Amino acid sequence: MERLQKVLAHAGVASRRKSESMITTGRVRVNGQVVTELGTKVSVNDQIVVDGVPIANEAPVYILMYKPKSIISTVSDEKHRATVMDLLEDEVNERVYPVGRLDYDTTGVLLLTNDGELANRLTHPKYEIEKNYVAKVEGIPTNDELETIRHGIQVDTFKAAPARVKVTSADRAKKTAIVSMTIHEGKNHQVKKMLQTIGHPVEKLKRESYSFLQLGGLRPGEWRRLKPEEVKQLK
Ligand code: URA
Repeated sequence: MERLQKVLAHAGVASRRKSESMITTGRVRVNGQVVTELGTKVSVNDQIVVDGVPIANEAPVYILMYKPKSIISTVSDEKHRATVMDLLEDEVNERVYPVGRLDYDTTGVLLLTNDGELANRLTHPKYEIEKNYVAKVEGIPTNDELETIRHGIQVDTFKAAPARVKVTSADRAKKTAIVSMTIHEGKNHQVKKMLQTIGHPVEKLKRESYSFLQLGGLRPGEWRRLKPEEVKQLK
C-alpha cells in the first residue's frame, strides 16, 4: 500500500505537492469515491481517476538499455521507425518511457521507467545528473578550443554550463580524435552542438554513463532491469 499522493506523483500526474492539492480539492476518485484525505493508502488493485481520467497504477519498473544506433528514443514515431520500445518487446508490460533522449544515431546508456516522479527529478537541471559521452570528432581539438567548453560555451540557442572535456586519443593520419565529455544538462543535441561550435563536428556519439550507471556487459540493443540497490541510489 502506498500513499495516494505518492502514487499520483509516480504515475507522472504532477509533482508530489501538486498531487496533494489535487486530492484536497476533490479532483481524485478512488474506486469511484472522491478522496480528499491526504493519508489515504491505495494498492495496485485500486482504480484511481483524476479529473475523470484513469491513471496507470502500475508497479514501478526501471530499465537500463544499451541504445543501438538507428533507433528512436521516444515511445512512438510518426515516421514508423523502430523505437526503443520495440526492443523491450513483450517482456515489459508496464508503460515505461525513456528518461530524456538520445539522438537517432547516438548509442549508449538509456534509462527507461514508468516512475514519473523519478523521471521528472532526474531530468530537472537542479539535480545536475552527470552524463559522460565519448565522441569521435573531425579534426583534433586544441587545448584552447577545449578551454572554451570548460568555461561554458555559447552555442546557437543556449549557453552550456562548464563541462569536463579532454581528448583521449587522436588519429593524426585520419585527422580525427576521440573526445570524452561530461555534462549535467540535457539540451537538444547538446554535445554535438558544443563540439561543432569549437569547429569539430561529431561523427559518432556514445553515452558511456548516466550518473553511476554504466553499460557493463550489455551489448547494443540489450537491456536489464535495475537492481533494487541501484534504484535506491538513483533516488
Ligand atoms: N548530446 C547530443 O548531441 N546528442 C545526444 O544524443 C545526446 C547528447
